[in-house]
Amino acid sequence: MAELLAHATREGDLYDVLPDGRLRCYACGHCCPLPDGAIGVCKVRFNDHGRLMVPWGYVGGVQCDPIEKKPFFHAYPGALAYSFGMLGCDLHCSYCQNWVTSQALRDPEAVASPLGASPAALVGDALRLGARVMVSTYNEPLITSEWAVAIFKEAKAAGLTTGYVSNGNGTPQVLEYLRPWVDLYKVELKSFDDRRYRQLGGRLDPILDTIRRLHAMDFWVEIVTLLIPGFNDGRDELQRLTAFIAGVSPDIPWHVTAFHGDYKMQDPQDTTVEMLLEAAAIGREAGLRHVYAGNLPGQVGELENTHCANCGDTLVSRVGYHIRQYRITPSGACPSCGVAVPGRWSAQFDGQIAWRPFVPIRHLT
Ligand code: SF4
Repeated sequence: MAELLAHATREGDLYDVLPDGRLRCYACGHCCPLPDGAIGVCKVRFNDHGRLMVPWGYVGGVQCDPIEKKPFFHAYPGALAYSFGMLGCDLHCSYCQNWVTSQALRDPEAVASPLGASPAALVGDALRLGARVMVSTYNEPLITSEWAVAIFKEAKAAGLTTGYVSNGNGTPQVLEYLRPWVDLYKVELKSFDDRRYRQLGGRLDPILDTIRRLHAMDFWVEIVTLLIPGFNDGRDELQRLTAFIAGVSPDIPWHVTAFHGDYKMQDPQDTTVEMLLEAAAIGREAGLRHVYAGNLPGQVGELENTHCANCGDTLVSRVGYHIRQYRITPSGACPSCGVAVPGRWSAQFDGQIAWRPFVPIRHLT
């Protein structure tokens, strides 16, 4: 696999040459200094005789998701999100739900086949299926940003919206690089404890810095936290985590979602409805105006719905990924009080092509 992928590369954009001849990669917060022949922590970017080679020309998987699955609740509700990923990740979370693609170069049990693809074919496929949005997801998109940008240039020329579903371990350089081409940015804020992040192979600070920068740079940002009993569900930690988000902006939607055993993390109990409701209440107390509870459809009451932060009117009602009612005005406001709803909205709701994910028949080269 590693040998095969070493040929699916191109020289990257996100690096500098250091005074001692090593290359400094800026695609993620590790900022690896790479001597000739060295490969980064992500296992997909490497120094080949003074050139930083990066993944190119393939996808590890393609799927059509309702945008609610990403989750984005304040960006074009009901839209079909054509979702693609490559292989590899800069972290190694033991509970990863996409481990077959994210850990493909680290774990011999993660066997995913790369599929040759071109930006034009991917965008053509997305348009054919009626997608409104293209999303880089499943592996960590930051480490494959050059390829995502190549696809998103075509996507934006075709009128599509673009997005990242990311762990947020970014750098100022990669965010500047992405800003013209990425509209929506979902960050999974996994914990508010640096020791936990180090267990996963990262650090907390670059993620917090990325969230601040994303908001300041006017990406549309939503944040998700997978609530894992015994890992990140302490009241004090959740208070600090949600206070941080509210400090960046109380209008950033926060999704707290239920954990179930996956990959190498099978010990913690599954998250219960009561745990989600308690975490959501902490988020509201911290001042967040749009808090959602996910992964337990139909069991969390109003926490699947979008409400006006001013008058409390229900604006979008959902069960799981299914939109049951949509009442936001063409100008993106509450129909009852007229106050603008933070997010990115269509002039009209066009219904849903799918409210369950599906895998398209592939025409990607
Ligand atoms: S993407 Fe991150 S992990 Fe990979 S080489 Fe660049 S800085 Fe290192």
